[in-house]
Amino acid sequence: MGIMVATVLISIILGWFAGLFINYVADVLPFTRRFSRAACPECQTPFPLANYLTLRPCRQCGKKRSLRTWLVQILTVAAFAYFWLFPSKALGIPLGMLVLIYFGIITVIDLEHRLILHPTSLAGAVLGLVVGTYIHSRLNGNEILIGLGKSLLGGVVGFGVMFLLYQLGGLVARYRARRLQTAGQADDQEEALGGGDVYLAGVLGLMLGLDFIGIALAYGVILGGLVSLLFLTVLLVRRRYSNAALMTFIPYGPYFILSAFYLLFL
Ligand SMILES: [Zn+2]
Repeated sequence: MGIMVATVLISIILGWFAGLFINYVADVLPFTRRFSRAACPECQTPFPLANYLTLRPCRQCGKKRSLRTWLVQILTVAAFAYFWLFPSKALGIPLGMLVLIYFGIITVIDLEHRLILHPTSLAGAVLGLVVGTYIHSRLNGNEILIGLGKSLLGGVVGFGVMFLLYQLGGLVARYRARRLQTAGQADDQEEALGGGDVYLAGVLGLMLGLDFIGIALAYGVILGGLVSLLFLTVLLVRRRYSNAALMTFIPYGPYFILSAFYLLFL
């Protein structure tokens, strides 16, 4: 019993630090593209380190820390405690925690900025290759080369499928721009599928490998489509529907993360 309490306590402490890391990366990377000092979003005054780490308001302007900061702390602690007690069968504890941190960072930045950054994709590719090789080596009688091959092929398939869809989206966008021009309307530069999603699909392909990336992409596209359909229905019912809403950008990133999370952890 004492050991049980101690392990849960350790997972909670580690989860708290992981949450701080996710918040820090989401606070600085989209703005400076490097691990710079965190600054207040309101007045741009850099936080003293101790203030930043203890989640205190800005000393200069008194602006409180964002709701996202607290949500990330709570959710990361909860996820760490849960997956410490009930670890992912595919990943085990250490890799599982790393993947949780990675998914957290990508999700927060994508939701806040509709952006999947190249440095995070690159770091994800390294993590994805390790995770994918680990999973598929164990599924194939501990043959590391088979695991590595399946991981790499999964990456190629994930990247390739989304790249083709992205090209198709580009064609549709150009066709639509021409139609709008002949109709005398300005081109509104809408893209149906973000370029960062292509890299994300590649990273998830490395992680899930050839065997599972297809399922993850299908789940993600279906989930994204369903949510968009729901959104359109609400607009239709409330008579706020316009021609523009039909082509509204679908951010697939969070849906891909959700389906990969489901496959890897549940
Ligand atoms: Zn401030």
